[in-house]
Amino acid sequence: MSIETTTTWVDTFNESLMRTMGQPLALLTHGRGAFVWDENEKEYLDFLAGIAVNSLGHAHPVLVEALTRQVGTLAHVSNYFSTRPQLELAERLKRLTGAGPAGRVYFCNSGAEANEAAFKLARLNSSGPRTKIVALKNSFHGRTMGALALTGKPDMRAPFEPMPAGVVHIDSTIEALEATIDGTVAALFLEPIKGEAGVIDLPAGYLARARELTEQHGVLLILDEIQTGVGRTGRWFNYEYAGILPDAVTIAKGMAGGVPIGSLVTFGWASDLFQRGMHGSTFGGNPLATAAANAVLGEIEDRDLVGNAERRGAQLKERIAALNSPLVSDIRGQGLLIGLGLSEPIALKLAAAAMDAGLIINAANESSIRMAPPLIIRDLEVDAFITRFTAALAAVGYPAAPAPALVVPATTPTTPTDAESAS
Ligand SMILES: *Cc1c(COP(=O)(O)O)cnc(C)c1O
Repeated sequence: MSIETTTTWVDTFNESLMRTMGQPLALLTHGRGAFVWDENEKEYLDFLAGIAVNSLGHAHPVLVEALTRQVGTLAHVSNYFSTRPQLELAERLKRLTGAGPAGRVYFCNSGAEANEAAFKLARLNSSGPRTKIVALKNSFHGRTMGALALTGKPDMRAPFEPMPAGVVHIDSTIEALEATIDGTVAALFLEPIKGEAGVIDLPAGYLARARELTEQHGVLLILDEIQTGVGRTGRWFNYEYAGILPDAVTIAKGMAGGVPIGSLVTFGWASDLFQRGMHGSTFGGNPLATAAANAVLGEIEDRDLVGNAERRGAQLKERIAALNSPLVSDIRGQGLLIGLGLSEPIALKLAAAAMDAGLIINAANESSIRMAPPLIIRDLEVDAFITRFTAALAAVGYPAAPAPALVVPATTPTTPTDAESAS
């Protein structure tokens, strides 16, 4: 394609889209599995998957079939009616989250909306001195006003003050948690791994301690698993690693393979807080989106893609570590939510070099790379990733330097005669 064509879409974007986003990296036209192509037919290995959204990769036949069938049957009906896909998904989420028979499910259309519902849930646990909502510094919970109030990034909130009142942000340490959780707190909001911040793990034992303290003081423990949920970290939900259940969990990104959907699932007594008429959404839980989610979750179950996320995540971390690049100072996250800490603040440059090498990874900030490949990846995609990532590292001047253990020792016999006699 000519440069003129490229200029045209960039111009249109710059003239017509709201100035909320940076310049797009490419104009993508189609995808298949873990690969996508741009308008020049350049191929990319997609290790971001629409930010942990395309769980099954692109154009997965199971999702295509389910959506096609549902849109040709019944796409939307309003909240005055229920549908089979909606009921099936609610039951499935109660089972997969561990909420069980006492659980309840609210459907909406995005992560932010799920957290808005959770914020209202927290207000329903507010009475007398119990008014505070606690969240973490550097957390991300979405861009709408309630979700933004929860978000621990002052720069994001500043232009939109005043925020809904009552949210306090604390350091991500067990000491700060112990000093804050008491009878004045209505809810504690946590991301089990801070995705947007660059895939930052919580300290060891944090979730278990958070569960103890919140239970002791009547505080709702609300986990934002919008990015970590639905198998992404090698468990259906990340809190399984801690052996706990929350009072509520918000779910969105990976649930329907790219069809907008969000959900708030409540556990136990938290299921009795919302009453009729207190919340709602026109599109939320419609048969099209819920049929898509049933197809995606069914495929994840049938193919054990949760187990695949755990195994492929470990494999990727091992192979990245073995590259031994001086640029990669830290490997974070669980399963297929992987963060790389860089020894120099050149994440944008590295992500751009990766694009050149045919690899999509995300510069979450200047010294962190975030990766969230589709849960379907196999050896082929892992190998392609290592090849292209190695090229990107070399392009920014930090080539891989495989560990000496992998190099044939100098003392090893090298002549054919010696080698033969040794064997
Ligand atoms: C993406 C994300 C959100 C916001 O979801 P949207 O669908 O963009 O509104 C909230 N919390 C976490 C942890 C996220 O990763």
